Amino acid sequence: MEKRNLLGYTVAQMEDLAVTLGEKPFRGRQLFKWLYKIRQYDFEMMTDLSRSLRQRLSDGYAFRGLDADQTAVSKDGTRKFLFRLNDGHPIETVLIPDEESGRRTACVSSQAGCALGCRFCATGAMGLRRNLGVGEIVGQLLHLRDEHGDGAFTNVVFMGMGEPLLNLDNVVDAIGIISDGAGLSHSARKTTISTCGIIPGIRKLADTRCKAWLAVSLNAAIQEKREKIMPVAATYRLENLADAVKHYTQVTRTRVTFEYALFEGFNDTMDDVMAFSRFVKGIPCKINLLAYNPVSGAEWKAPSQEKIDWFAKQLYPRVPAVTVRRSRGADIDAACGQLAGSSARRR
Ligand code: SF4
Repeated sequence: MEKRNLLGYTVAQMEDLAVTLGEKPFRGRQLFKWLYKIRQYDFEMMTDLSRSLRQRLSDGYAFRGLDADQTAVSKDGTRKFLFRLNDGHPIETVLIPDEESGRRTACVSSQAGCALGCRFCATGAMGLRRNLGVGEIVGQLLHLRDEHGDGAFTNVVFMGMGEPLLNLDNVVDAIGIISDGAGLSHSARKTTISTCGIIPGIRKLADTRCKAWLAVSLNAAIQEKREKIMPVAATYRLENLADAVKHYTQVTRTRVTFEYALFEGFNDTMDDVMAFSRFVKGIPCKINLLAYNPVSGAEWKAPSQEKIDWFAKQLYPRVPAVTVRRSRGADIDAACGQLAGSSARRR
């Protein structure tokens, strides 16, 4: 009989397991710490557990991480990992170092593929294969720690493959493991969930106790334009999205980040600046602008740096806190879904 994989078990599930095995619940928390924090995957080495518990764990359970199928390293230091899941689906994780700030951002996936079909995204072109389990989310970060040590990443963003708010329960459980002091000890305050604007998910997230930041990938504040690049915008219209985000900021008493990728000649005009300013009015927020990172076959191009700077300048006095971000890892197809997409095509 195949051993049950404990990767992705929450503290509560490990406590339940301890009870099932005839132990006190706190033994489950000890096990949780050995596996996620100490990263000791051999039950025999867990010296503060009784010999009989170690034996029962060894007999029936295992802790198997994700296997990296492929790694690509960009000239700018960005690393992209392709994992092959048990059922063969590929997913990606990207590790983005920033020398200036000292940040190392891990960009993790929440779904294999994605159903939302954003026109600028390689993952969108793949369609949805399935949601990732809690272990498949946490496993991406554990792999980075196993490969690059405890300081492998300083920030975590759910901006890889998939729409995290369409797999919200697993994402929230994964963040629970990641942020637990006996887990990966990575503060939820250094974790960001990025959504394309799933309104019921934003409202549901507001009701969880999850302390991660929320980012909304906006990309256009004019309804017709947004629908053109993000079909989901037809369902979740801008005016309703603004209401949901406002509600989120009121309930959580936080501000949100709006991500806005600039496409040359499409969403970089004065009309777009004015629409954007109207959209964010009354929402505590900051704005990240970045140039679109082209994927093969897409019809758009990245604007020049001058155009991006012009857009930021027009926007800034009208909206709070605008940051211009650099696109990273272009030479290794680091935009979401590109490596998995090309791997799936090759296969
Ligand atoms: S941008 Fe995000 S939500 Fe849109 S298709 Fe890509 S993975 Fe899905």
